[in-house]
Amino acid sequence: MGSTVDVNRYDASHREWVAESVRRIKAEANRSADTNLIAVPLPAEWNIDLYLKDESTHPTGSLKHRLARSLFLYGLCNGWIRRDAPVIEASSGSTAVSEAYFAGLIGVGFIAVMAESTSRQKIELIEREGGTCHLVADPSRVYDVAQQLAVETGGHYMDQFTFAERATDWRGNNNIAESIFAQLALERFPEPEWIVATAGTGGTSATIARYLAYTGRRTGVCVADPENSAFFPGWQQRDRTVRTDTGSRIEGIGRQRVEPSFLPTAIDRMMVVPDAATIAALRHLEAATGRRVGGSTGTGLWAAYRLCAEMLGAGRTGSIVTLLCDPGDRYLDKYYSDAWVDDAGLDPAPYRARLDAFLRTGELP
Ligand SMILES: *Cc1c(COP(=O)(O)O)cnc(C)c1O
Repeated sequence: MGSTVDVNRYDASHREWVAESVRRIKAEANRSADTNLIAVPLPAEWNIDLYLKDESTHPTGSLKHRLARSLFLYGLCNGWIRRDAPVIEASSGSTAVSEAYFAGLIGVGFIAVMAESTSRQKIELIEREGGTCHLVADPSRVYDVAQQLAVETGGHYMDQFTFAERATDWRGNNNIAESIFAQLALERFPEPEWIVATAGTGGTSATIARYLAYTGRRTGVCVADPENSAFFPGWQQRDRTVRTDTGSRIEGIGRQRVEPSFLPTAIDRMMVVPDAATIAALRHLEAATGRRVGGSTGTGLWAAYRLCAEMLGAGRTGSIVTLLCDPGDRYLDKYYSDAWVDDAGLDPAPYRARLDAFLRTGELP
């Protein structure tokens, strides 16, 4: 008879640290309020209600607050995040802002690996949360560099692009979809015709789509993609290996590869929105409501307006929800700067004219 092999790695102090870290993250959620569902004004006779789910009111100012919370809980419960070892992330900025905050909450270091083109305001936000920024010239290298830094420092590469979809609780737990439906409960059209999302990791659209299927809704999921993104061609051609040569100009969305967290089979519809139309949409929203929103919100809003025009054309009434992903004050030197828009070779004027016509005629080609 052989003897029993028994290796015991039980570490009481690590378990205690994990328990305390999880408590701090849950306590943060417990003291946070839900985000608002705001009605966007449309002509009353259309009988179509358009809403923005305002994710800019999270404590770290974007929808990435939800993701960062989920990734930290997932990493802690998996035994991936350890005391005295930094967390490292490849990010276009917003995730890093939120992760720096949660790293600070549990007392671990945080390093963000980002493209040099990331807006200055976002870099300042990350540093204010106690994070460090590691900038790289080639945006397609952020993943390798983050992985390498994790090896060098003995830290944990969070890898949002792989884990966003699985770290998020898609069945409920007040995820973004469950929250939207709870807030629509007393509206005249409580089941929207469409929910529009944009994709960076793809996690938000995956969570929404799964939740809709799981709860038996008829609502469609439309993903609005910017120029130069691999998500649309990858979805259209059913090919996950598609790559693009150029990075997206709309921060937070549009990737040069089909990220592992993007779930094409769950997405009903996609639209490619010209970057100039994105800028026209966000400036138009500012003129109409006084609200400044980030670039990706403009991309989703343009798609939502087109869906609205389609419903009008078909004589249908109902509701549409799109996401306000982050606030415009993060991009004053980009989408709200005429100099930047000119340098980028973008001309929002014709799209702006189309939006003005849309509000008069209900048509948006
Ligand atoms: C990440 C991000 C998105 C897209 O969300 P995903 O869940 O990562 O697909 C949209 N807008 C902004 C500003 C983002 O940072």
